[in-house]
Amino acid sequence: MQNIGRVSIVLFKSVSCAPCKVIERNLRTIISTSSMSNVSLTLIDTDEEPELSEKYNVRNVPAVLFNDKMVLTAQMAAELLSEELGAFSTSAAGMNGENQGNPFGTFDLPQGQSPFESETPPIDESNPISALNFDQGDSGGGIFANNAIFNQLFNSLIEASVESSEEELGRWQKYNMLTISQKTMTLETIQELTRPSLGDYVHIGVLQSIVTSILAINPASRQYLYDVGVNMGKYSNTQFRFLTANPRILEHTDSTSKFRDLLEGLQELYSANSYGLPLFLTSRSLVTRNEKKIASIQVYDSAYSARMAPIGQPVCYLIAGEIAGLIETTIGEENVSVVESKCWGLGDNLCQFDIEIGKKKDFSHEKTRPFLNKEEKARFQNSLNVISKNMYQSSLLRTVLRPNPGDYVHISVLQQALNGIKFSDPFFSSLLYYAGIHYGKHGKDFEIMERIMKKSNLESPLEFGVGCKALLGYLNDPSTILTRLYGQSFLEVEDEETIRIKIYESAISAGLNFEVEGQLLFEVDREKAVLCNFTAGFIQGRLERILEDDIRVKEVSCHSLGFSYCEFIIELD
Ligand SMILES: [Zn+2]
Ligand SMILES: [Zn+2]
Repeated sequence: MQNIGRVSIVLFKSVSCAPCKVIERNLRTIISTSSMSNVSLTLIDTDEEPELSEKYNVRNVPAVLFNDKMVLTAQMAAELLSEELGAFSTSAAGMNGENQGNPFGTFDLPQGQSPFESETPPIDESNPISALNFDQGDSGGGIFANNAIFNQLFNSLIEASVESSEEELGRWQKYNMLTISQKTMTLETIQELTRPSLGDYVHIGVLQSIVTSILAINPASRQYLYDVGVNMGKYSNTQFRFLTANPRILEHTDSTSKFRDLLEGLQELYSANSYGLPLFLTSRSLVTRNEKKIASIQVYDSAYSARMAPIGQPVCYLIAGEIAGLIETTIGEENVSVVESKCWGLGDNLCQFDIEIGKKKDFSHEKTRPFLNKEEKARFQNSLNVISKNMYQSSLLRTVLRPNPGDYVHISVLQQALNGIKFSDPFFSSLLYYAGIHYGKHGKDFEIMERIMKKSNLESPLEFGVGCKALLGYLNDPSTILTRLYGQSFLEVEDEETIRIKIYESAISAGLNFEVEGQLLFEVDREKAVLCNFTAGFIQGRLERILEDDIRVKEVSCHSLGFSYCEFIIELD
């Protein structure tokens, strides 16, 4: 991103401080995966530069400043870690006044052992998924042992980047969103075959795995996804389709008729064959309430949530936000609140969106915690397992999840959603990356990986090269439904510590070439304009689980840059 604001990050650390290393690694990952180029990271060793620590009033490490504002103190870090992991007490972290000079000297994270190991999700005996092997003893070390730290840093960065230039950010979102949707959701692009060998429809489980992983890593994702939906409704060509297919919306001037037309438009938009585009995002929808400024619309078979197990919260934030964005722009009203009151995620068998004009959607009560509690995590894990199980049963055993539109959606739904997320905030690509790590580590389809390893008599921890080959085996395995997401993969060994994986026909980016005559259409630096952040994170998460070691993954080529493949460089960290 060339012109939008800037964020300067300062991390105060010391050699003996273990959490400092965790924070530094998180910051480096966030910065390298974000779309923003104006981010600087300065590391200050408090032992070597006491005068700087004095200047910023930093007495304990770690401490993190964004644009000179303190966003993480030693005490906060200790509290976040101890609350999330339940394994550390603040007194152990030296927070009671003693040992002020080096409070974290004795505060070591367990090496090579995951704090989640003792945290096996409770298995619901009445749930059919219990019959499958549950992922027990997840090796969730590395970054994911420290979700709370990531979220604290990430959520503060989102605020800092918005604050630095709100107006410019809005313009950037609008421009990029339009660029994406012109390449995805037009009748021409949908009629053309984008992926000659894999086809242009992906299983609904693919969309569900990704969105559920995003919700699982950060409670604030609920608001982020809603805001992405608002941007999609306002700026993408959904707005254009909505109005050109239903011009009555603009013809009527009295608000009652206009609102009625608008609701009828939504009903048409959320049908299987929406305005002639066979997207199969939903099967049908129905307006069930219309009282001047309040209305409800029920949506059947949402691809984001159909047949998934409840997680205690709705899932279809992208649709809720999209409805709000469409209405806001169409009637010129700034405050529209859309609440998803029924959803598969809440245990219902349809989704219901309650619309209220003149009221701003309030997320403040949901933004209080930077991490999910133990029960919520277990519910999300169960839900991800059910999604995997549904995927396999639907595609291998032909069990039907959605009788009417079928179990597949057009890849433009996926591309619009993922790239809509990526370009709604310069840091949201990091959210996709971390969601990929989460899915790579905790996804139920890890069992396929285990089967492949077992066949070759391999056991974790694997050596780097061997692990990458096992991952390639997984990616190209015919039973890997997600192969339809990632595409066809090839591997090149560069040296002992560097391996490249090339993927052809990725559902996230295939057909999305944003380079025209050597010029990139996105307002993002070239190296940041790769689209497959989720896949890169997935490769990292899955490999870290079988290698039991830290690695780095960077996408260096992508369809978005005019290549016929995506290429990922994998290195030991
Ligand atoms: Zn829903
Ligand atoms: Zn790519």
